[in-house]
Amino acid sequence: MKSHTQVVVIGGGVVGASVLYHLAKAGWTDAVLIERDELTSGSTWHAAGGMNTFNGDPNVAKLQKYTIELYREIEEASGQSCSIHITAGVDLAGTPERMDFLKVACARARYLGLGMEIISIDEAARIFPLLDKRHFVGALYNPLEGHVDPSGVTHAYAKAARKLGAEVYRFTRVSDTRPRPDGSWEIITDKGNLVAEHVVNAAGLWAREVGRFAGLELPVLAMEHQYIVTGDIPEVIASPKEVLHAIDFEGEIYMRQEGRGMLIGTYEKAGVPWAERETPWNFAHELLAPDLDRIAGSLEVGFRHFPPLERAGIKRIVNGPFTFAPDGNPIVGPVRGLKNYWVACGVMAGFSQGGGVGLALANWMVHGDPEFDVWAMDVARFGDWATMAYTNAKVRENYSRRFRIRFPNEELPAARPLRMTPIYDRLAAKGAVFGAAFGLGHALWFAPAGTEAREDVTYRRSNAHGPVGEECRAVRNAVGLSETSSFAKYEVSGPDAGTWLERTLANGLPREGRLTLSPMLNESGRLIGDFTVTNAGRGRFFVFGSGIAEQYHLRWFEKHLPVSGVAMRALRTELLGLAIAGPNARTLLSRLTGDDVSNAAFPFLSFRAMEVAMLPAHVGRISFTGELGYEIWVPADCQIALYDAIVAAGADLGLRHFGARALNSLRLEKSFGNWAREYRPIYTPAEARLERFVDISKPEFVGRDAVLHDRDKTHSRRLVTFVVDAGDADTIGDEPVWHDGKVVGWVTSGGYGHCVGKSIAVGYVPAALALATSGFEIEILGERRCAAISAQPLYDPTGERMRRG
Ligand SMILES: Cc1cc2nc3c(=O)[nH]c(=O)nc-3n(C[C@H](O)[C@H](O)[C@H](O)COP(=O)(O)OP(=O)(O)OC[C@H]3O[C@@H](n4cnc5c(N)ncnc54)[C@H](O)[C@@H]3O)c2cc1C
Repeated sequence: MKSHTQVVVIGGGVVGASVLYHLAKAGWTDAVLIERDELTSGSTWHAAGGMNTFNGDPNVAKLQKYTIELYREIEEASGQSCSIHITAGVDLAGTPERMDFLKVACARARYLGLGMEIISIDEAARIFPLLDKRHFVGALYNPLEGHVDPSGVTHAYAKAARKLGAEVYRFTRVSDTRPRPDGSWEIITDKGNLVAEHVVNAAGLWAREVGRFAGLELPVLAMEHQYIVTGDIPEVIASPKEVLHAIDFEGEIYMRQEGRGMLIGTYEKAGVPWAERETPWNFAHELLAPDLDRIAGSLEVGFRHFPPLERAGIKRIVNGPFTFAPDGNPIVGPVRGLKNYWVACGVMAGFSQGGGVGLALANWMVHGDPEFDVWAMDVARFGDWATMAYTNAKVRENYSRRFRIRFPNEELPAARPLRMTPIYDRLAAKGAVFGAAFGLGHALWFAPAGTEAREDVTYRRSNAHGPVGEECRAVRNAVGLSETSSFAKYEVSGPDAGTWLERTLANGLPREGRLTLSPMLNESGRLIGDFTVTNAGRGRFFVFGSGIAEQYHLRWFEKHLPVSGVAMRALRTELLGLAIAGPNARTLLSRLTGDDVSNAAFPFLSFRAMEVAMLPAHVGRISFTGELGYEIWVPADCQIALYDAIVAAGADLGLRHFGARALNSLRLEKSFGNWAREYRPIYTPAEARLERFVDISKPEFVGRDAVLHDRDKTHSRRLVTFVVDAGDADTIGDEPVWHDGKVVGWVTSGGYGHCVGKSIAVGYVPAALALATSGFEIEILGERRCAAISAQPLYDPTGERMRRG
């Protein structure tokens, strides 16, 4: 065993082996993989080896495509067969709602280049003759589906890595990881110790236990998963080529050919977690006791839908555990607060995702950036609220819903409510329908008095459409009240606070008593944040950003903080906010404060400490609605008093509560972008039309060189606003944009603009087309709808309403 190495990867499953290969390929050949048993000794060895490009997140779908296309490369590099079978697949719909789901997936696949097609049920029966047509209404054809040999793939990665110089230590168990003062790690094993500059936790079924060595509680949990293999099936034997993969969503089963029969797996509704608190170390090449009763319901449906399966009988049952994160996507990246500690775990589809996970992590470690959009699998998307019990509830929910439709307006119930602000009950009493962001409950919309606070889930306009319209009109015509607590808030202070913020953010800092909007860029000049920065005076700044990105941003901030001179902390729910917006907002605020809030004394983009309703508050004059508006921030224990005072003082001003759905409609009318939709690390500020918030006259800030370099180039794409000739369904995001019969771009978000009476979509198109006025179509639920670019925001293009005196 070496005494020192650049990186240790803990875990020789498909994921650890892929990470090792990608690190070695990227030039980190001084890399060691440590496996406590034989390679594949976790969930990898008994996997069904199936792979496809199906994923709710387009960026993860792209990584799945990369993974599938990688197998030829590692076969050639290693000389080890992966037993690649690309059969293609049919994903079958039994209901019109499921057809909508497949149409949305198919549309998204167009701009990802995945080549999916919606086909008739007759066509599906022609290419997949096992099915009984009477149970289905249509299908999605996916050319990139198939299966590989799990052991072959893992060994191919490992052999290819070894050929590049990496090493694999088998039958060596890591029993501790200890941080050293210089940022490296001491890796303690039963065969001796070694020092590694970096450590990767790819321990699969034991990722939690390995995480605990470093004081981490990772949000992953294993679930038992069963598949059966049937006896011989004459139709399979007679098939001139390998039978296609198939998913039957109604039966919640997937299947593929195995020998002369079929392999059928199911995600049952009452899934059973395995090793809920601790994974036994003596578990290796083992299976769990099968429990046919648990999956009998799904199998019965399967046998009805595919009659030859029933006639074949069951030859073998496999029950094995594998891990999931609360939202079902992998957990990848550097862990905040632990230097040089990386994770690649919670990978529930190792044969679809393992390659992409390895590539992303290797890029991140070697080049400092994953080089594509990995937000959907970034470990930073979870905070300390993702406890073991939360993870347990969410993973069970996610497992039980694996093949169910997740509607775009659907909020899943497990582990909610979790984090709540003090006014939660008051909002509930007002009819709030809640969602959750970063674990914190927030109001989506308010059901009118006398109606149930519940939203019908649908791809089309829901029962929320009418009430949300009323909320929007109240904001535009009178005054609206909403909660802003789900923003992330940071306090930055100390003698060097200003200098540090100037260097970290792309815009210039506001002077005392003012606020500005500022993007944050990485070294390649891509957007990694958009913030409201306020100057509270005496070297103290409050920075407000996206709530869901709190860990993501803290990880970046902390990495870039100087050793002394700057103190930075997240205020979490210590500081809570309420926003009032609309033409009556100033009158309302003036009733609650003795301060002069006239336009002259408190103009647009002001920020000041003031007493509001006798409470110590900070007030910013800004509103994401595009109206005259104020964000009022108070300590958490003052929030109820502030809320009650606003509600009482606003009664005769037409005050109405509004939620996130109305805010989305109002900001779309103003063409305001949102973090994680329009603004993500794959876009530059110029592409996202944020150039005016980048101050290149500053001598130095992260990303400046890249911005200057980009300035002289023509932009590849531009963010634009479309008016869509929609029917009863608006865009939701991720729809393809067509121009002159070709897919040229994608929608980032959309909805109905209630006050302009138009369906609005925002998205990216090639820069050369950003000025074109005609020829666009946007695909909504399988129909190409005419769309026209609006050169200006649809509401108040000059911004007078926000600045009104
Ligand atoms: C029945 C079943 C069917 C499945 N079918 C499919 C499918 O069709 N397609 C698909 O994509 N996925 C499938 N999966 C899921 C797939 O198996 C997983 O996504 C994949 O195996 C995860 O790999 P991993 O490397 O993250 O974890 P693991 O395979 O669990 O590997 C972790 C490795 O780390 C080692 N290790 C842990 N702790 C230590 C330590 N302290 N020191 C040294 N070594 C350590 C373990 O011994 C183990 O070998 C299936 C799973 C099951 C159970």
